[in-house]
Amino acid sequence: MKSEIHIENPDVILIGSGIMSATLGAVLKEMDPSLRIQLYEVTDGLACEASNGWHNAGTGHAGLCELSYTPDYGADGEVDVSKAIEIFHQFEHSLQFWGHAVRTGMIKDPKDFVNPVPHLSFVYGQEQVDFLRSRHRQLTKHHFFKEMEYTEDRDTIRKWSPLILEGRDNEPVAMTRMPHGTDVNFGALADGLIQWLGKQEGCGFATQSRVTDLTKCGEKWEVKVKNLQTKQTITNTAEFVFIGGGGGSLPLLQKSGIAEAKGFGGFPIGGQWLISEKPELVNQHTAKVYGMSPGAAPTMAVPHLDTRIIDGKKALLFGPYASWTTKFLHEKGSAFDLPGSIRLDNIGSLIKVGLHNIPLVRYLVQQGTQSMETRLGELRNFYPDAKAEDWKLIDAGIRVQAIKKEDGDAGIVHFGTEMVTSADRSLTALLGASPGASVSTNVIVQIVQKCFADKLKTTDGHRRMKAVIPTFDEDLTLANMAERQKTVSDEAMQSLRILS
Ligand SMILES: Cc1cc2nc3c(=O)[nH]c(=O)nc-3n(C[C@H](O)[C@H](O)[C@H](O)COP(=O)(O)OP(=O)(O)OC[C@H]3O[C@@H](n4cnc5c(N)ncnc54)[C@H](O)[C@@H]3O)c2cc1C
Repeated sequence: MKSEIHIENPDVILIGSGIMSATLGAVLKEMDPSLRIQLYEVTDGLACEASNGWHNAGTGHAGLCELSYTPDYGADGEVDVSKAIEIFHQFEHSLQFWGHAVRTGMIKDPKDFVNPVPHLSFVYGQEQVDFLRSRHRQLTKHHFFKEMEYTEDRDTIRKWSPLILEGRDNEPVAMTRMPHGTDVNFGALADGLIQWLGKQEGCGFATQSRVTDLTKCGEKWEVKVKNLQTKQTITNTAEFVFIGGGGGSLPLLQKSGIAEAKGFGGFPIGGQWLISEKPELVNQHTAKVYGMSPGAAPTMAVPHLDTRIIDGKKALLFGPYASWTTKFLHEKGSAFDLPGSIRLDNIGSLIKVGLHNIPLVRYLVQQGTQSMETRLGELRNFYPDAKAEDWKLIDAGIRVQAIKKEDGDAGIVHFGTEMVTSADRSLTALLGASPGASVSTNVIVQIVQKCFADKLKTTDGHRRMKAVIPTFDEDLTLANMAERQKTVSDEAMQSLRILS
């Protein structure tokens, strides 16, 4: 195994090296330095799957620009913005934890993983303009969104995002802008946190190590791990196991045999991006611009034109283009992943999902087979003057959306992150993706509160957790918390050099 230190019979085994395992490992070790932790990763490097910089859009989702989080009008005839407020609140936990990681030297330079990039929403046509105006009116009533600007003025839009108006006709247009949005390289962040974890007393990580099985024996989980270099399989044990395998989580959850796993299925959605590294274009656009979802597109396929900063280099990214796949993992997946996940307890839900989501399946097949010219057509809805020679197509990550039987009803494709925990709280698995990496710290807080409640309740555990995520147990959405939110948020953003 490619690891200097391997921890035998640790307290915690983490499966996967994406942002979820990395965050859980680092938060647990900070809360209780005596914990012994071992992480296993099947690929050659760390965070090569969904968390990898090019496999996701790197948007620090805080509900600032994503119109898919606020799709509906409420009974009052105004856009319902409750989901955007919730996601902003969850993202605050990430900012606080990342700020702590930089202040304490877990991560050396924040620029390696997070950069300030304004978040913009752009709409065209009168119906969309009315929608955006109402969304802005509702959001700015809340202290989280006080800074949000709105305009229908073309000169202002041109100033905020010059490419968007080039070659566009005279239809009505509108844009909102939040100055303190972020571009995040979740892969670099996960890598940094795991490297830090690996240097802590009693902790280790191993790549090229596939977890093949897990069984509960008495108080402990027995975890089988195959070394892909030597082809040998070892057994390690731990009191707590975290299945943070991304697309690989469902098969492992099914192998765990816990009752709570019953009925879950997975629906993989592949993705692709158009990217441009042409300096003349890249230098004209510094923003993440989100539009509205076209027709049957799943929420994950809402088009956006993004500034990306990866390894210190700026690029433009447009997409995602969804595609049909039966693989659960990009790097180490197999075409048999989807058929292999079918069980008696989930086949009913899978069939119902197929029948209830025929437009979605048709959309995925059509998206995957479209020509470059059709893809450019979608880009030109955003950037009318886009030229084919400036863009190339690359693969994005795969999202395995969770399917479960809900209230005895048909299977539903969930676009959120699904946390599955065993009754004895000795195992947690994460399924699903969106908004995913951005709210990873909030997801991990929930796992710690549920599965490590005894440690968190001690005076020392609680104090240490407050140092890592100061408002993990406070509700910043309340009107009387506006000042507290601003103080804590500003401190985190200054540490991350998002604010000067
Ligand atoms: C196209 C696309 C765009 C996205 N855009 C955004 C965005 O803009 N902002 C955002 O916040 N989120 C975004 N996401 C979601 C985000 O990428 C994911 O939610 C997040 O990266 C998931 O992290 P993870 O740690 O759960 O999984 P991963 O990063 O996939 O990590 C799981 C790891 O487990 C390993 N593994 C799997 N099985 C095994 C096994 N049996 N043994 C050992 N190791 C195993 C895998 O190799 C992998 O390294 C996007 C996702 C996609 C696909």
